Amino acid sequence: MTTSRYLADYAITCDANFLLLRNAALDVTDGRISWIGEQSQAPPHDGPTNQLGGLLMPGLVNSHAHTPMTLVRGAGDGLPLMDWLTKVMWPREGQMTPEDALWGMRLGAAEMLLSGVTSTCEMYLFEEALVEAAQDVGIRLVMTPGIISALHGDSFGATDSRIAAIADFYARHHDPETLVTVGFGPHSAYDLPLELCSEVASAARDLDALLHIHVCETRHEGAELEAQHGGKSTIELLAEHGILDGRVLAAHSVWVNENGIETYAQKNVGVAHCPVSNMKLASGAAPVVSMRARGIQVGLATDGPASNDDLDLWQEIKFAPLLARVTALDAATMTPRDALTMATTEGSRVIGNDDSGVLQIGAKADFIRLELDDPTFVPVTNNDELIAHVAWSGSGRHVTDVWVQGTQVVANRCITNFDLERAIAEIQTRGMRLAKDSGT
Ligand SMILES: [Zn+2]
Repeated sequence: MTTSRYLADYAITCDANFLLLRNAALDVTDGRISWIGEQSQAPPHDGPTNQLGGLLMPGLVNSHAHTPMTLVRGAGDGLPLMDWLTKVMWPREGQMTPEDALWGMRLGAAEMLLSGVTSTCEMYLFEEALVEAAQDVGIRLVMTPGIISALHGDSFGATDSRIAAIADFYARHHDPETLVTVGFGPHSAYDLPLELCSEVASAARDLDALLHIHVCETRHEGAELEAQHGGKSTIELLAEHGILDGRVLAAHSVWVNENGIETYAQKNVGVAHCPVSNMKLASGAAPVVSMRARGIQVGLATDGPASNDDLDLWQEIKFAPLLARVTALDAATMTPRDALTMATTEGSRVIGNDDSGVLQIGAKADFIRLELDDPTFVPVTNNDELIAHVAWSGSGRHVTDVWVQGTQVVANRCITNFDLERAIAEIQTRGMRLAKDSGT
């Protein structure tokens, strides 16, 4: 089996030791990292060697997204969450065809890869189209097919068949050795009856699959549900109904109190933190510093491109610490290392991929190269400054090359094997049609 060696001026491992390696060598064999360290220590090598220069690091992980919403990007700006969903988003999305979702996902996957995002966890309908698009473009996908009341929650029968359809989809597509794994995506406890969420959670546990659900995104979304249940919090209700018992990813988790944090910690719930989306929709500031202090794993996420409005996770790497610091009025809160760890290793773990998002032996070879020859990356007088430059000033424009499972998918800032111009034209035409046909 051939081993390819990649040489760079620096590498950030994002493993538990968070090493910054100088004159780094990274070996890839059969899609996995077979060696990583300093060149002077590297084992003998007779396969291809790639002199890259620059800085290597794990690919970024978008832990919560609805990427086909590239088709409705920017719509309804300025509305409160519920109006935004019910008056603009859902009417336009209601007109979407599988072919629209395919193009929406292709464009979004290309946008992510070009900015260095190598994995995404998607909650959306049209799951077959999303898998096809991810495979076309070459991004790692955790597909959690959506279950949402407007389409599936009107009767138990409809939901049962949806659960069975997702279990069948899992059987056909879930394969951790490939780019695609599968979970379940019930929208939220305010949108679906608790009994239905409980049924979905049980189906997910039967397969040891990820359960991906929105929790406590906005301040008042749970008021009705909580009033119906004697004032118990949404998280108490989820826990009581066994919904947090398996492998659970709770997106947003903004309005979570100390008891909720304790429940998450006990149940080992992972969180997808979406600081830019939460600020854009004025949802609030999630208590992620308290969560991580309690041992809860937190990934970073863009949320859908309609509430962000882009899929460049570098903005979350910057805004997560900014939001945490301005909320705590403490400049020592959430370091650049914390932000980069959440964007890579921790994000990968919360979406169920324990062996990617990190540069270490045995991990899947999902990695990116940043160009360091850039005004924003000088001076470097010590290692911490370079890590700080990457976290605070890094952006998609610094990413020149991207590999997913050892395959190069972005070369010299161009996406390989994909017609980006065509995808842009398709989204323009299809986005216009959705706006027109929904009258929004
Ligand atoms: Zn969401």
